[in-house]
Amino acid sequence: MSLIVQKYGGSSVANAEGIKRVAKRIVQTRKAGNDVVVVVSAMGDTTDELLDLAESVSPLPAGRELDMLLTAGERISMALLAMAIKGLGVDARSYTGSQAGMITDAKHGSARIVDVTPGRVREALDIGAVAIVAGFQGFNRGTGDITTLGRGGSDTTAVALAAALGADVCEIYTDVDGIFTADPRVVPSARKIDRITSEEMLELAAAGAKVLYIRAVEYARRHGVTLHVRSSFNNNEGTLVINPQDGETMEQPIIAGIAADLSEAKITVVGVPDIPGKAAQIFTIVASTDANIDMIVQNVSSAATGLADISFTLPKLEGAKVLHVLESRKDDVGFDSLQYDDQIGKLALVGAGMRTNAGVSAKLFTALFDAGINIEMISTSEIRISVVTRADTINEAVRVVHSAFDLDTEDVALVHGGTGR
Ligand code: ADP
Ligand code: ASP
Ligand code: MG
Repeated sequence: MSLIVQKYGGSSVANAEGIKRVAKRIVQTRKAGNDVVVVVSAMGDTTDELLDLAESVSPLPAGRELDMLLTAGERISMALLAMAIKGLGVDARSYTGSQAGMITDAKHGSARIVDVTPGRVREALDIGAVAIVAGFQGFNRGTGDITTLGRGGSDTTAVALAAALGADVCEIYTDVDGIFTADPRVVPSARKIDRITSEEMLELAAAGAKVLYIRAVEYARRHGVTLHVRSSFNNNEGTLVINPQDGETMEQPIIAGIAADLSEAKITVVGVPDIPGKAAQIFTIVASTDANIDMIVQNVSSAATGLADISFTLPKLEGAKVLHVLESRKDDVGFDSLQYDDQIGKLALVGAGMRTNAGVSAKLFTALFDAGINIEMISTSEIRISVVTRADTINEAVRVVHSAFDLDTEDVALVHGGTGR
Protein backbone atom coordinates (compact mmCIF):
# COMPACT_ATOMS: atom_id res chain seq x y z
CA MET A 1 0.00 0.00 0.00
CA SER A 2 1.29 3.44 -0.93
CA LEU A 3 0.67 6.88 0.49
CA ILE A 4 -0.12 9.24 -2.35
CA VAL A 5 -0.52 13.01 -2.15
CA GLN A 6 -2.58 14.37 -5.06
CA LYS A 7 -2.89 18.09 -5.76
CA TYR A 8 -5.66 19.34 -8.04
CA GLY A 9 -5.26 22.85 -9.47
CA GLY A 10 -8.06 25.34 -10.00
CA SER A 11 -8.49 24.37 -13.64
CA SER A 12 -9.22 20.76 -12.61
CA VAL A 13 -12.02 21.75 -10.20
CA ALA A 14 -13.40 24.73 -12.11
CA ASN A 15 -17.06 23.66 -11.75
CA ALA A 16 -19.31 20.97 -10.25
CA GLU A 17 -18.55 18.69 -13.21
CA GLY A 18 -14.83 19.03 -12.55
CA ILE A 19 -15.24 18.33 -8.85
CA LYS A 20 -17.18 15.14 -9.61
CA ARG A 21 -14.61 14.02 -12.17
CA VAL A 22 -11.77 14.58 -9.69
CA ALA A 23 -13.73 12.84 -6.91
CA LYS A 24 -14.03 9.73 -9.11
CA ARG A 25 -10.34 9.70 -9.71
CA ILE A 26 -9.57 10.00 -5.98
CA VAL A 27 -12.01 7.19 -5.18
CA GLN A 28 -10.31 4.96 -7.77
CA THR A 29 -6.92 5.61 -6.16
CA ARG A 30 -8.34 4.88 -2.70
CA LYS A 31 -10.12 1.72 -3.85
CA ALA A 32 -6.86 0.48 -5.40
CA GLY A 33 -5.68 0.25 -1.77
CA ASN A 34 -3.70 3.45 -1.39
CA ASP A 35 -3.83 6.00 1.40
CA VAL A 36 -4.77 9.29 -0.27
CA VAL A 37 -4.23 12.87 0.84
CA VAL A 38 -5.63 15.49 -1.51
CA VAL A 39 -4.64 19.14 -1.73
CA VAL A 40 -7.07 21.31 -3.62
CA SER A 41 -6.95 24.83 -5.09
CA ALA A 42 -9.79 27.29 -5.37
CA MET A 43 -12.24 26.64 -8.21
CA GLY A 44 -11.22 28.08 -11.60
CA ASP A 45 -10.38 31.77 -11.41
CA THR A 46 -11.87 32.24 -7.92
CA THR A 47 -8.68 33.66 -6.42
CA ASP A 48 -8.41 36.30 -9.16
CA GLU A 49 -12.08 37.17 -8.78
CA LEU A 50 -11.68 37.59 -5.02
CA LEU A 51 -8.66 39.80 -5.60
CA ASP A 52 -10.67 41.96 -8.03
CA LEU A 53 -13.43 42.19 -5.46
CA ALA A 54 -11.01 43.27 -2.73
CA GLU A 55 -9.56 45.92 -5.01
CA SER A 56 -13.01 47.28 -5.74
CA VAL A 57 -13.68 47.98 -2.07
CA SER A 58 -10.17 49.12 -1.10
CA PRO A 59 -7.20 50.17 -3.23
CA LEU A 60 -4.70 48.75 -0.72
CA PRO A 61 -6.41 46.02 1.29
CA ALA A 62 -4.83 45.00 4.60
CA GLY A 63 -2.76 41.82 4.25
CA ARG A 64 -4.51 40.08 7.11
CA GLU A 65 -7.96 40.65 5.62
CA LEU A 66 -6.85 39.78 2.10
CA ASP A 67 -5.59 36.42 3.37
CA MET A 68 -8.89 35.83 5.18
CA LEU A 69 -10.71 36.52 1.94
CA LEU A 70 -8.51 34.49 -0.40
CA THR A 71 -8.40 31.40 1.80
CA ALA A 72 -12.19 31.22 1.46
CA GLY A 73 -11.67 30.05 -2.15
CA GLU A 74 -9.93 26.83 -1.11
CA ARG A 75 -12.45 26.27 1.69
CA ILE A 76 -15.23 26.09 -0.87
CA SER A 77 -13.48 23.55 -3.09
CA MET A 78 -12.27 21.33 -0.20
CA ALA A 79 -15.76 20.99 1.27
CA LEU A 80 -17.41 20.33 -2.11
CA LEU A 81 -14.79 17.73 -2.98
CA ALA A 82 -15.25 15.93 0.35
CA MET A 83 -19.03 15.86 -0.24
CA ALA A 84 -18.58 14.46 -3.75
CA ILE A 85 -16.25 11.72 -2.51
CA LYS A 86 -18.63 10.75 0.28
CA GLY A 87 -21.37 10.65 -2.35
CA LEU A 88 -19.36 7.92 -4.07
CA GLY A 89 -19.33 5.85 -0.87
CA VAL A 90 -15.81 6.61 0.38
CA ASP A 91 -15.19 8.44 3.65
CA ALA A 92 -13.54 11.86 3.30
CA ARG A 93 -12.71 14.76 5.65
CA SER A 94 -11.75 18.27 4.65
CA TYR A 95 -9.31 20.41 6.62
CA THR A 96 -8.24 24.03 6.38
CA GLY A 97 -4.52 24.72 6.25
CA SER A 98 -4.37 25.44 9.96
CA GLN A 99 -6.30 22.27 10.84
CA ALA A 100 -3.87 20.30 8.72
CA GLY A 101 -0.92 21.80 10.62
CA MET A 102 0.56 24.07 7.96
CA ILE A 103 2.45 26.42 10.27
CA THR A 104 3.95 29.49 8.59
CA ASP A 105 5.73 32.71 9.41
CA ALA A 106 3.56 35.83 9.71
CA LYS A 107 4.17 37.34 6.26
CA HIS A 108 0.70 37.85 4.80
CA GLY A 109 0.49 37.15 1.07
CA SER A 110 3.78 35.26 0.86
CA ALA A 111 4.14 33.29 4.09
CA ARG A 112 6.78 30.57 4.35
CA ILE A 113 6.11 27.18 5.87
CA VAL A 114 8.10 26.76 9.10
CA ASP A 115 6.57 23.53 10.41
CA VAL A 116 4.07 20.88 9.31
CA THR A 117 2.14 19.00 12.01
CA PRO A 118 -0.40 16.91 10.12
CA GLY A 119 -1.84 15.03 13.13
CA ARG A 120 -5.43 15.33 11.96
CA VAL A 121 -4.54 14.24 8.45
CA ARG A 122 -2.92 11.11 9.88
CA GLU A 123 -6.00 10.43 12.02
CA ALA A 124 -8.19 10.61 8.93
CA LEU A 125 -5.92 8.15 7.11
CA ASP A 126 -5.93 5.84 10.15
CA ILE A 127 -9.69 5.45 9.97
CA GLY A 128 -9.52 4.81 6.23
CA ALA A 129 -10.78 8.22 5.13
CA VAL A 130 -9.41 10.40 2.35
CA ALA A 131 -8.00 13.65 3.79
CA ILE A 132 -8.70 16.78 1.75
CA VAL A 133 -6.54 19.78 2.60
CA ALA A 134 -7.10 23.37 1.46
CA GLY A 135 -4.03 24.47 -0.49
CA PHE A 136 -2.18 27.77 -0.35
CA GLN A 137 -2.95 28.58 3.29
CA GLY A 138 -1.43 28.31 6.73
CA PHE A 139 -1.47 29.61 10.25
CA ASN A 140 1.00 31.72 12.24
CA ARG A 141 1.38 30.75 15.89
CA GLY A 142 2.66 34.15 17.00
CA THR A 143 -0.18 36.25 15.62
CA GLY A 144 -2.80 33.50 15.62
CA ASP A 145 -3.72 34.62 12.10
CA ILE A 146 -4.43 32.87 8.83
CA THR A 147 -1.80 33.34 6.10
CA THR A 148 -1.40 32.55 2.39
CA LEU A 149 1.70 31.21 0.69
CA GLY A 150 1.62 33.36 -2.46
CA ARG A 151 0.05 32.73 -5.87
CA GLY A 152 0.28 29.12 -7.00
CA GLY A 153 0.97 28.14 -3.38
CA SER A 154 -1.16 24.98 -3.38
CA ASP A 155 1.73 23.20 -5.09
CA THR A 156 3.85 24.01 -2.02
CA THR A 157 1.16 22.78 0.37
CA ALA A 158 1.13 19.45 -1.48
CA VAL A 159 4.90 19.04 -1.46
CA ALA A 160 5.20 20.03 2.22
CA LEU A 161 2.52 17.51 3.20
CA ALA A 162 4.15 14.82 1.06
CA ALA A 163 7.46 15.46 2.81
CA ALA A 164 5.96 15.54 6.32
CA LEU A 165 3.93 12.37 5.75
CA GLY A 166 6.75 10.55 3.95
CA ALA A 167 4.50 10.01 0.91
CA ASP A 168 5.66 7.76 -1.90
CA VAL A 169 4.82 10.32 -4.56
CA CYS A 170 3.33 13.79 -4.89
CA GLU A 171 1.09 14.00 -7.96
CA ILE A 172 0.32 17.47 -9.32
CA TYR A 173 -2.83 17.29 -11.48
CA THR A 174 -3.39 20.09 -13.95
CA ASP A 175 -4.96 20.90 -17.34
CA VAL A 176 -2.05 19.81 -19.55
CA ASP A 177 -0.39 16.38 -19.85
CA GLY A 178 2.76 17.34 -17.97
CA ILE A 179 5.69 19.68 -18.30
CA PHE A 180 6.32 20.68 -21.90
CA THR A 181 9.32 22.22 -23.67
CA ALA A 182 7.30 25.48 -23.71
CA ASP A 183 3.86 26.63 -22.62
CA PRO A 184 1.52 24.62 -24.89
CA ARG A 185 -0.88 27.57 -24.99
CA VAL A 186 1.84 29.55 -26.78
CA VAL A 187 3.59 26.75 -28.68
CA PRO A 188 1.06 24.07 -29.71
CA SER A 189 3.91 21.96 -31.13
CA ALA A 190 5.67 21.85 -27.72
CA ARG A 191 6.89 18.41 -26.68
CA LYS A 192 5.96 16.69 -23.42
CA ILE A 193 9.02 15.97 -21.30
CA ASP A 194 9.06 12.50 -19.64
CA ARG A 195 11.68 13.25 -17.00
CA ILE A 196 13.21 16.54 -15.98
CA THR A 197 15.73 17.28 -13.23
CA SER A 198 14.62 19.44 -10.33
CA GLU A 199 17.51 21.76 -11.14
CA GLU A 200 16.11 22.45 -14.62
CA MET A 201 12.52 22.70 -13.38
CA LEU A 202 13.64 25.21 -10.78
CA GLU A 203 15.07 27.44 -13.51
CA LEU A 204 11.94 27.07 -15.67
CA ALA A 205 9.63 27.84 -12.74
CA ALA A 206 11.75 30.84 -11.75
CA ALA A 207 11.52 32.06 -15.34
CA GLY A 208 7.73 32.00 -15.40
CA ALA A 209 6.62 28.46 -16.37
CA LYS A 210 3.69 28.51 -13.97
CA VAL A 211 2.91 24.81 -14.38
CA LEU A 212 4.85 24.39 -11.10
CA TYR A 213 5.41 27.00 -8.46
CA ILE A 214 9.08 27.69 -7.77
CA ARG A 215 8.87 27.28 -4.02
CA ALA A 216 7.26 23.88 -4.42
CA VAL A 217 10.11 22.73 -6.65
CA GLU A 218 12.66 24.04 -4.13
CA TYR A 219 10.90 22.31 -1.26
CA ALA A 220 10.65 19.03 -3.18
CA ARG A 221 14.34 19.17 -4.03
CA ARG A 222 15.38 19.86 -0.46
CA HIS A 223 13.21 17.10 0.99
CA GLY A 224 13.72 14.54 -1.78
CA VAL A 225 10.02 14.46 -2.80
CA THR A 226 9.36 12.98 -6.25
CA LEU A 227 6.88 15.08 -8.22
CA HIS A 228 4.68 13.68 -10.97
CA VAL A 229 2.97 16.41 -13.01
CA ARG A 230 0.05 15.03 -15.02
CA SER A 231 -3.38 15.74 -16.43
CA SER A 232 -6.55 15.27 -14.40
CA PHE A 233 -8.42 14.91 -17.69
CA ASN A 234 -6.86 11.58 -18.83
CA ASN A 235 -4.69 8.72 -17.56
CA ASN A 236 -1.55 9.50 -19.55
CA GLU A 237 1.80 9.35 -17.84
CA GLY A 238 2.93 12.88 -17.06
CA THR A 239 6.37 14.28 -16.26
CA LEU A 240 8.57 13.10 -13.39
CA VAL A 241 10.66 15.75 -11.68
CA ILE A 242 13.64 13.85 -10.31
CA ASN A 243 16.52 14.66 -7.99
CA PRO A 244 19.69 13.28 -9.59
CA GLN A 245 21.56 13.72 -6.30
CA ASP A 246 19.33 10.99 -4.86
CA GLY A 247 20.96 8.48 -7.17
CA GLU A 248 18.52 8.85 -10.06
CA THR A 249 20.41 9.43 -13.25
CA MET A 250 19.32 10.46 -16.68
CA GLU A 251 20.83 11.55 -19.94
CA GLN A 252 20.71 15.32 -19.99
CA PRO A 253 19.44 16.90 -23.19
CA ILE A 254 21.08 20.17 -24.18
CA ILE A 255 17.81 22.07 -23.85
CA ALA A 256 15.03 21.14 -21.42
CA GLY A 257 12.67 23.97 -22.27
CA ILE A 258 11.80 27.62 -22.71
CA ALA A 259 9.85 29.84 -20.34
CA ALA A 260 8.48 33.35 -20.75
CA ASP A 261 7.50 35.93 -18.21
CA LEU A 262 5.42 39.05 -18.75
CA SER A 263 5.08 39.92 -15.08
CA GLU A 264 8.27 41.97 -14.82
CA ALA A 265 9.17 45.60 -15.41
CA LYS A 266 12.48 47.39 -15.89
CA ILE A 267 13.74 50.34 -13.88
CA THR A 268 16.66 52.38 -15.20
CA VAL A 269 18.55 54.69 -12.88
CA VAL A 270 19.92 57.27 -15.31
CA GLY A 271 23.11 59.25 -14.75
CA VAL A 272 24.65 57.54 -11.72
CA PRO A 273 28.15 58.87 -10.81
CA ASP A 274 30.60 56.23 -12.09
CA ILE A 275 32.48 55.81 -8.81
CA PRO A 276 32.85 52.87 -6.39
CA GLY A 277 29.99 52.29 -3.98
CA LYS A 278 27.10 53.59 -6.10
CA ALA A 279 25.73 50.17 -7.07
CA ALA A 280 25.98 49.11 -3.44
CA GLN A 281 24.04 52.20 -2.38
CA ILE A 282 21.30 51.77 -4.99
CA PHE A 283 20.74 48.08 -4.34
CA THR A 284 20.79 48.56 -0.58
CA ILE A 285 17.92 51.04 -1.02
CA VAL A 286 16.10 48.60 -3.31
CA ALA A 287 16.69 45.72 -0.86
CA SER A 288 15.05 47.72 1.92
CA THR A 289 11.74 47.31 0.05
CA ASP A 290 12.06 43.49 -0.01
CA ALA A 291 11.58 43.57 -3.79
CA ASN A 292 12.97 40.59 -5.68
CA ILE A 293 15.20 41.97 -8.38
CA ASP A 294 16.45 39.85 -11.21
CA MET A 295 18.62 40.98 -14.14
CA ILE A 296 21.03 43.88 -13.64
CA VAL A 297 22.86 45.72 -16.40
CA GLN A 298 25.19 48.73 -16.13
CA ASN A 299 26.05 50.84 -19.19
CA VAL A 300 27.94 54.03 -19.91
CA SER A 301 25.27 56.69 -19.47
CA SER A 302 23.42 58.22 -22.35
CA ALA A 303 23.29 61.40 -20.20
CA ALA A 304 26.98 62.39 -19.99
CA THR A 305 30.50 61.00 -19.59
CA GLY A 306 31.63 59.96 -16.13
CA LEU A 307 28.09 58.70 -15.50
CA ALA A 308 26.53 55.26 -15.75
CA ASP A 309 22.98 53.97 -16.27
CA ILE A 310 21.96 51.01 -14.13
CA SER A 311 18.93 48.95 -15.21
CA PHE A 312 17.32 46.07 -13.40
CA THR A 313 14.15 44.01 -13.68
CA LEU A 314 11.65 43.33 -10.91
CA PRO A 315 8.03 42.17 -10.56
CA LYS A 316 5.61 44.85 -11.85
CA LEU A 317 3.74 44.54 -8.56
CA GLU A 318 6.76 45.97 -6.74
CA GLY A 319 7.50 48.71 -9.29
CA ALA A 320 5.69 51.60 -7.63
CA LYS A 321 7.18 50.90 -4.21
CA VAL A 322 10.76 50.72 -5.50
CA LEU A 323 10.41 53.85 -7.66
CA HIS A 324 9.10 55.69 -4.66
CA VAL A 325 12.01 54.87 -2.32
CA LEU A 326 14.62 55.45 -5.02
CA GLU A 327 13.10 58.85 -5.85
CA SER A 328 13.18 59.81 -2.18
CA ARG A 329 16.95 59.11 -2.09
CA LYS A 330 17.79 60.80 -5.40
CA ASP A 331 20.02 63.49 -3.91
CA ASP A 332 21.99 61.09 -1.67
CA VAL A 333 22.78 58.80 -4.59
CA GLY A 334 23.21 61.66 -7.04
CA PHE A 335 21.51 60.20 -10.10
CA ASP A 336 19.68 62.25 -12.79
CA SER A 337 16.37 60.48 -13.20
CA LEU A 338 14.44 57.21 -13.13
CA GLN A 339 12.81 55.44 -16.07
CA TYR A 340 10.11 52.83 -15.70
CA ASP A 341 9.25 50.37 -18.47
CA ASP A 342 6.51 47.80 -17.89
CA GLN A 343 6.31 46.65 -21.52
CA ILE A 344 9.10 44.09 -21.32
CA GLY A 345 9.03 40.33 -21.74
CA LYS A 346 11.64 37.90 -20.53
CA LEU A 347 12.52 34.66 -22.28
CA ALA A 348 14.65 31.96 -20.64
CA LEU A 349 16.23 28.99 -22.35
CA VAL A 350 17.04 26.24 -19.83
CA GLY A 351 19.05 23.03 -20.09
CA ALA A 352 21.63 21.19 -18.01
CA GLY A 353 23.41 20.11 -21.18
CA MET A 354 24.39 23.76 -21.81
CA ARG A 355 27.27 23.26 -19.42
CA THR A 356 29.06 21.07 -21.93
CA ASN A 357 27.81 22.55 -25.19
CA ALA A 358 29.25 25.63 -26.81
CA GLY A 359 27.28 27.79 -29.21
CA VAL A 360 23.92 27.78 -27.43
CA SER A 361 23.89 31.56 -26.95
CA ALA A 362 24.93 32.17 -30.54
CA LYS A 363 22.04 30.01 -31.79
CA LEU A 364 19.56 31.75 -29.49
CA PHE A 365 20.63 35.25 -30.54
CA THR A 366 20.66 34.28 -34.22
CA ALA A 367 17.12 32.91 -34.02
CA LEU A 368 15.89 36.17 -32.50
CA PHE A 369 17.82 38.26 -35.02
CA ASP A 370 16.35 36.26 -37.94
CA ALA A 371 12.88 37.06 -36.58
CA GLY A 372 13.73 40.75 -36.27
CA ILE A 373 13.41 40.70 -32.47
CA ASN A 374 15.64 43.10 -30.55
CA ILE A 375 17.39 41.94 -27.38
CA GLU A 376 17.51 44.56 -24.62
CA MET A 377 19.17 42.71 -21.75
CA ILE A 378 20.98 39.39 -21.38
CA SER A 379 21.87 37.32 -18.34
CA THR A 380 23.18 33.79 -18.00
CA SER A 381 23.67 31.12 -15.37
CA GLU A 382 25.32 27.73 -15.80
CA ILE A 383 22.18 26.15 -17.23
CA ARG A 384 20.11 29.15 -18.37
CA ILE A 385 20.25 32.07 -20.81
CA SER A 386 17.68 34.84 -20.35
CA VAL A 387 16.93 37.77 -22.62
CA VAL A 388 14.60 40.73 -22.29
CA THR A 389 12.61 41.81 -25.36
CA ARG A 390 9.52 43.97 -25.96
CA ALA A 391 6.45 42.38 -24.33
CA ASP A 392 4.55 42.21 -27.63
CA THR A 393 7.24 40.09 -29.29
CA ILE A 394 7.65 37.55 -26.51
CA ASN A 395 5.35 34.82 -27.85
CA GLU A 396 6.91 35.05 -31.29
CA ALA A 397 10.33 34.90 -29.61
CA VAL A 398 9.40 31.70 -27.75
CA ARG A 399 8.16 30.08 -30.97
CA VAL A 400 11.23 30.91 -33.07
CA VAL A 401 13.64 29.80 -30.35
CA HIS A 402 11.65 26.59 -29.85
CA SER A 403 12.03 25.80 -33.56
CA ALA A 404 15.68 26.85 -33.71
CA PHE A 405 16.52 24.24 -31.08
CA ASP A 406 14.48 21.54 -32.89
CA LEU A 407 12.05 21.09 -30.01
CA ASP A 408 8.85 21.00 -32.12
CA THR A 409 6.80 17.82 -32.51
CA GLU A 410 4.16 16.91 -35.07
CA ASP A 411 1.51 16.42 -32.36
CA VAL A 412 -0.57 19.30 -31.12
CA ALA A 413 -0.43 19.63 -27.33
CA LEU A 414 -3.88 19.55 -25.75
CA VAL A 415 -4.90 22.09 -23.13
CA HIS A 416 -7.96 20.59 -21.47
CA GLY A 417 -9.28 23.35 -19.29
CA GLY A 418 -8.40 26.59 -17.64
CA THR A 419 -8.41 30.13 -18.93
CA GLY A 420 -4.67 30.65 -18.53
CA ARG A 421 -5.43 33.61 -16.29
P1 ADP B 1 -3.51 24.73 -12.13
O1 ADP B 1 -4.86 25.39 -12.18
O2 ADP B 1 -3.61 23.24 -12.28
O3 ADP B 1 -2.66 25.14 -10.96
P2 ADP B 1 -1.87 26.43 -13.77
O4 ADP B 1 -2.69 27.30 -14.68
O5 ADP B 1 -1.26 27.03 -12.55
O6 ADP B 1 -2.77 25.17 -13.45
O7 ADP B 1 -0.70 25.73 -14.59
C1 ADP B 1 -0.95 25.00 -15.77
C2 ADP B 1 -0.66 25.88 -16.98
O8 ADP B 1 0.73 26.17 -17.01
C3 ADP B 1 -0.94 25.23 -18.31
O9 ADP B 1 -2.28 25.35 -18.71
C4 ADP B 1 0.02 25.96 -19.24
O10 ADP B 1 -0.65 26.98 -19.98
C5 ADP B 1 1.01 26.64 -18.30
N1 ADP B 1 2.41 26.35 -18.63
C6 ADP B 1 3.40 27.28 -18.73
N2 ADP B 1 4.55 26.72 -19.07
C7 ADP B 1 4.33 25.39 -19.18
C8 ADP B 1 5.16 24.27 -19.51
N3 ADP B 1 6.46 24.42 -19.78
N4 ADP B 1 4.59 23.04 -19.53
C9 ADP B 1 3.28 22.88 -19.23
N5 ADP B 1 2.45 23.91 -18.93
C10 ADP B 1 2.96 25.15 -18.90
N1 ASP C 1 -5.75 29.56 -5.48
C1 ASP C 1 -4.39 30.06 -5.36
C2 ASP C 1 -4.01 30.82 -6.61
O1 ASP C 1 -4.79 30.92 -7.53
C3 ASP C 1 -3.41 29.00 -5.05
C4 ASP C 1 -3.21 27.96 -6.12
O2 ASP C 1 -4.07 27.77 -6.98
O3 ASP C 1 -2.20 27.27 -6.08
O4 ASP C 1 -2.93 31.34 -6.68
MG1 MG D 1 -0.87 26.37 -10.46
